[in-house]
Amino acid sequence: MRFFKRAYIRYVLHRYAIKHEIWEAVTSKLVLLVGLTAVEKAHLRELSTLLLHGKRIFGVQGLLLTEEMRVLVAATACLPILHLGISLFAEWTDIVVYPSVFRVSRDETDAAGVVHHEERVLSGESWGRGPVIVAWDEVERDSVQGLPGHNVIIHEIAHKLDMLNGTANGMPPLHVTMPIPEWSTTLSAAYEELNRRLNHHHPTCVNPYAATSPAEFFAVFSEYFFCAPDILHGHFHGVYRQLCLYYRQDPFLRLSAA
Ligand SMILES: [Zn+2]
Repeated sequence: MRFFKRAYIRYVLHRYAIKHEIWEAVTSKLVLLVGLTAVEKAHLRELSTLLLHGKRIFGVQGLLLTEEMRVLVAATACLPILHLGISLFAEWTDIVVYPSVFRVSRDETDAAGVVHHEERVLSGESWGRGPVIVAWDEVERDSVQGLPGHNVIIHEIAHKLDMLNGTANGMPPLHVTMPIPEWSTTLSAAYEELNRRLNHHHPTCVNPYAATSPAEFFAVFSEYFFCAPDILHGHFHGVYRQLCLYYRQDPFLRLSAA
């Protein structure tokens, strides 16, 4: 079975490889990829090819995606799994791209069992086995030089990884070499400290949205990890080290060396 799977992957990579000109045009402008080695970039291109071939990436509300736009979405989505593998994306099939922020309305049940009707405006959303949903204007802004530590695709992919072992709770399935107590003690302490600072109206160097739940903490800190690693490395070093172990990447080191 494995042999056939490997053979199929080789076939897809050969038959559907992202065209060199398109790959270069898109990735040369992507600040997120600064410092990746040539080997890592080549591997990212392979993962992006597999993603584009295996998933549907499409626009809604009249948004037509060009090949360049789809490659940009795929390359960004694959950065977190660069050293984890495409198999972590096996349980879902669609990336839906809205032209801009989108409105959702749904019923939510609170801890007391009371159902509230909520209307919210979102720039991204992830469902367990459902689609990743993002707003194109946010994706475009993040790809050049958006807000420090902001990337809607990385955020939603982090939720997807978190949900691989059930509901999103801020702890994706860890590698066997990573002690769970270390992850949970380190991230809990940082989460509580962040909430303490916000409750006392003290300034923080990260997006306060990280303090809304452990799941959002992991997603927002994953954004900083890839987009502004210096902030995490300097102010949340323990969390930074845990994320290095999980993602098997060291963006601070590669940016420092670039
Ligand atoms: Zn989120």
